Formats: sequence, structure tokens, C-alpha cells
Amino acid sequence: MIASAIPTIGGILVAMAIVALIEIAVPLHARGRWNRIHLGPNLALTFLTFATNAFLNAALLTTLVWLRVKHFGLLGMVPLPGLASGVIGVLALDLSFYVAHVAMHRVPAFWCYHRVHHADPAVDVTTTIRQHPGESVIRYAFLAAFAFAFGVSPGAFAVYRIWSALNGLLEHANIRMPLWVDGLLSLVTTWPYMHKIHHSRIAAETNSNYGNIVSLFDRLFGTFTAPERGTNVRYGLDGFDDRAVQTAAGLLAVPFRKSVASAAARTGSDVTSAVPGYRARQRTNCRNA
Ligand SMILES: [Zn+2]
Ligand SMILES: [Zn+2]
Repeated sequence: MIASAIPTIGGILVAMAIVALIEIAVPLHARGRWNRIHLGPNLALTFLTFATNAFLNAALLTTLVWLRVKHFGLLGMVPLPGLASGVIGVLALDLSFYVAHVAMHRVPAFWCYHRVHHADPAVDVTTTIRQHPGESVIRYAFLAAFAFAFGVSPGAFAVYRIWSALNGLLEHANIRMPLWVDGLLSLVTTWPYMHKIHHSRIAAETNSNYGNIVSLFDRLFGTFTAPERGTNVRYGLDGFDDRAVQTAAGLLAVPFRKSVASAAARTGSDVTSAVPGYRARQRTNCRNA
């Protein structure tokens, strides 16, 4: 099953190359020094993520096939037409990534890993799969919990993973688009500008627009920021612009660097007042998290 990931990875690489060509044709921002500097580390982390995810995907898919036979999970118990069951399954998995993403911003131990993605001072198609292997483990834990609880079919899972990868390329792409088109797209999906806001250095913006494929959950749970400002965002994380950090080895070590606070704690955002003692817990050192 792991070998079957190779065509999928090949397809994602081809899609990345096509998006990179569109970035050259209609760039949102002119390419700067960080676009050149981040290329090698981003591709190294991308291939590491491909390898990690191939194992996690195979394990999850094997379990889903077994659970399907046992009619495990909500969708396994309720007789629904195949298409309806598939759509609900895909939405359930997208909700799992929304919840995982919120958790990665609010739980200090998770933020230590997720900030590798946010620390990119330039956002383009190569940022998409720049993530720490630890983030893959966190994401798949949430994915598995929702997939098992809903009894998502292996087919819906495969569709979701491929759609998620392609959507990710588009939401990070450095592509200019008319604002009115983007406004219409943001009614449904997270690209191209809605996710750009999430990469802002301004913490209140970072801690919004968590959606993976659909914008529905951000709108539903009050974490939506309108994407108009997405064309004018300063990307990255303060304190992580050192060239020594922005290497493959430096980025893999980021979770083990000293941390001042989680993303949510940087804001003094709503959650700090909603959860007693929350702010105190944010002062976690990544090394000890
Ligand atoms: Zn994030
Ligand atoms: Zn991103």
C-alpha cells in the first residue's frame, strides 16, 4: 500500500510544477530573496512529509478497510446513498483538519511543531507541504479519530487526501487574482487569499482562517477573517528569520527551541479569557512541552 503512494506523490509534484509556472505568469508578489532561500529547505521538508504520510496513510487506510467490513462508525450504521455518504465523509475529514489546526494554535506542545509551517518568510507553492513530521502525526491522529467515528469509506478518504493536497497548493500559491473573484471563492473555499491571512505576522490574523478545503467551518465557528487584506500580508513569524533557522536542519530543530508562547497566547485572544488558567499554560517551553 505504501508503494501505491508513488503515483499520487508524482501527481502532486506535477501539480506543484504547474502552479509554479502560473506563479511566474501572474505573480501576486515579485520573487524576493526568501523565495530563493526557502526553496531547498521547503522541498526537503516536503519530501520528508511525503515519506511520513505514506506510512500514516497506509496504516489509516488499512484500518478503514477493516472497519468498513465491521460496519463501524456513524455512516456504517445509517443506510445512505453512496454519494451522500461520500460527501458527509469528506466534510467530516475537513472538519477534523479544522479542529486539528485550531488545536495546533492553542495547545503549546502542538504549536511547537506547527510553527515550522508559519515561520516561512515567503509564501508560495513550496510552502504548502513545508511541515515538521511531528505535525503529520498530530494531523493524522485527528484524521483517524474523525474517520473512525464517522466510519468514512476508504474511497472518501482517498478523495479527501488528494483534494486536500491540490487545494493546499492553490491556497499557498503566489498568484494574483481579481478581488471580486477571490471574494466569491471565499464563500466556499480557502484559496487564494483567505489562507494568506493565516500566514500573517499579526497574531490576531494568524489565529483565524483555519479551514483546510472549505471556508464553512471558519464561518460557522467565528474564526473567519475576510480575505481582502490577503494581498498585503507580511508573512512569517517574528524571531524565526535567522538564516541558520531557515535551513532544513534548523527547521527540524524548531520544535525543540525555547518558546515564549503558543500562537493563541501571543494575542491575548478570546480563548485566554474563555478558559481559566489558559494564559498561564501558554508559557510552555517547547523543549519541555
Ligand atoms: Zn496555522
Ligand atoms: Zn499554510
